[in-house]
Amino acid sequence: MAASVIKKYLKAGKVARKALDRGIEVCDVGVSYFDVVKEVERVITERGAFPAFPVNVSVNHVGAHYTPYPGDGMKFEEGDVVKVDVGCHVDGFIADNAMTVEVGTNRYSNMISAVEDALNVAIESVGDGVKTKDVGKNIESMITSRGYKPIRNLSGHAIKRYELHSGLSVPNIGRGRDVIKKGMVLAIEPFATDGKGKVVNSTTSEILHIKGERRLKDEDLKFYRWIEERFDNLPFASYWCRSYGDDHLKRLNRVKRFGSVMSYPVLIEANKGVITQREHTVIVTSKGAKIITR
Ligand code: MN
Ligand code: MN
Repeated sequence: MAASVIKKYLKAGKVARKALDRGIEVCDVGVSYFDVVKEVERVITERGAFPAFPVNVSVNHVGAHYTPYPGDGMKFEEGDVVKVDVGCHVDGFIADNAMTVEVGTNRYSNMISAVEDALNVAIESVGDGVKTKDVGKNIESMITSRGYKPIRNLSGHAIKRYELHSGLSVPNIGRGRDVIKKGMVLAIEPFATDGKGKVVNSTTSEILHIKGERRLKDEDLKFYRWIEERFDNLPFASYWCRSYGDDHLKRLNRVKRFGSVMSYPVLIEANKGVITQREHTVIVTSKGAKIITR
């Protein structure tokens, strides 16, 4: 990896971590979910980076892909187990990290530290030539030894420039055939639950991604290309399109109808168990893995 690329990853990592810390800090009883998003995005843009996807604020049995929107009225309550998942990029080089915090209570500290410990053993085991299956096995045994289940259908992922999920996945159980190679950038993200150990699709989220121009024409095509130009292939949120103009919501609905823009489903625990998550992004080196979101 070129020194200039490493430098950009390190910067993205530093900013992603600062933004995540700020997001976790503001989670409190009565605070709105969207306040977390505002703070996170402020830190990212203030430091000259760009959000790589809408901030995920996933509460209790919600595992991932929930993002609040302005005026949705969602506020934290005492006892909520909140996962904040933040990604940003510098010139397309992405850092992705996440953390769990409990609002006002301490009932889930063990499940929160279980994913922290699972992430640490996973990262210690990463290196050139290591099988993803073995990393997953380490995550699984740490989480089960603490009395919980890993979420078996959520996994970490390789990252490439402007590509958040690029092929290789890092499972949270001992499964898979991929081999990790030096120079790869990996987001590793153990999830634990006291539920079934699996997430299922729920309602559609406000996290959007492009799927291709299809049969779009005229103003719709122009709008689609505006999105592509702005966010590349990265996930985005409706309100990020505000600067397109007053008709951005109408345009979004139209391109969705053409199948050119899709929304990710919110992922919830199959038995409504509570979920915790912790995530770092690492660069695989000949000696192991360097955490860029530390
Ligand atoms: Mn993430
Ligand atoms: Mn990730």
